[in-house]
Amino acid sequence: MTIGRIEIRQLVGKLDEPFGWSQRWNDSRGVSTVKLFDSDGAFGWGEASADPQTFAALQELAPQVIGKQAAHARAIWQELFQVFYQSHGFAGANVSALSAIDIALWDLAGKQTGKPVWELLGGRMRDAIPVYATGLYYTEDDYPDTLFAEASSYLKQGFSGMKMKVGGKSVPEDIERVLGLRKHLGDGPHLMFDANEAYDSATALQFARAVADADISWFEEPCPSYDDAANARVREQSPILISGGESLKTRHEFAPRLANRVFDIVQPDIAVAGGISEMQVIAQMANAHGTKFHPHFWGTGISFAASLHLVSTLPFTPPKLVPEPYVNEPVLEFDRTPHPVRENVCPDFDVVDSRVEVPNGPGLGVEVDESVVERFTVGEAVVVE
Ligand SMILES: [Mg+2]
Repeated sequence: MTIGRIEIRQLVGKLDEPFGWSQRWNDSRGVSTVKLFDSDGAFGWGEASADPQTFAALQELAPQVIGKQAAHARAIWQELFQVFYQSHGFAGANVSALSAIDIALWDLAGKQTGKPVWELLGGRMRDAIPVYATGLYYTEDDYPDTLFAEASSYLKQGFSGMKMKVGGKSVPEDIERVLGLRKHLGDGPHLMFDANEAYDSATALQFARAVADADISWFEEPCPSYDDAANARVREQSPILISGGESLKTRHEFAPRLANRVFDIVQPDIAVAGGISEMQVIAQMANAHGTKFHPHFWGTGISFAASLHLVSTLPFTPPKLVPEPYVNEPVLEFDRTPHPVRENVCPDFDVVDSRVEVPNGPGLGVEVDESVVERFTVGEAVVVE
């Protein structure tokens, strides 16, 4: 049962209405997919971001997976990492591509054995994963009515927490949006905000202090990810927990940030940081450093399911008898912004009491609609045999 065929695609869907954050506005959403077939015709799905660099890296790495066995996902990870390690391309798009291949290998290994990924990983600690809604991006004339209506819809859908954007307006305007939304929600629901690296440390601290009484669960990416000193300064002085790491890759980019306590919370993305294999390593490193682990998610049901399996296996940080989401139990991001591919390619996941059940079917346990894959494919699938 060796890998005999690989299909690589770029899927892109146009948005009806653009939305924005501190760095850009979006009018489409996309993903790169990998479908690995074994010699018996079984297949596994993986995904990474849709950018052209990742798509190119997938085509470069895929031939090296032909002839290998899905059950050897961790060994294949190390072999592929070695391929680009000394080419000065050690992270970047290569690791995104490797993430997609790794997720597909675990999915295939589960389908070959009839076991869910969480079981192949050594068993799970929880049947359902705490989630929060990501949305509340900038749209035209959204404040206050549109923003408040969106926030209310997340409470109705069963979410106990949600995350909004800051950094796309002036500092006073964004402070008003945060305070206004907290007032609209009332006490209780978790509220987080995300600057997407928009501030220097002084501005981030000014912002954090201005909203210190609004019961904010975390302040995400206050400063540029390359500026550890700025993020560490904010973490030390902010009245709100500081999070980051959604664009960081592999244990090697997390190790110094964990050792130096740059963030209170790390947020790697399974389709970016190195797939299921590497996320388990990063999560255990975060646990050992006493740093919370609340993974990022921005893809389709493929990487969301992979995240559910991974998070189900994780210990509490720190250990205590009673698990509490946000406190010692990981909370997974559940992107609810418009995404035509995500909304159609897999059945959506039910949210009950702000948790999503971990799939129990073989592999990732999600059904991918092939007609939807075809419909959103840009050009033709690249086939490697
Ligand atoms: Mg973010």
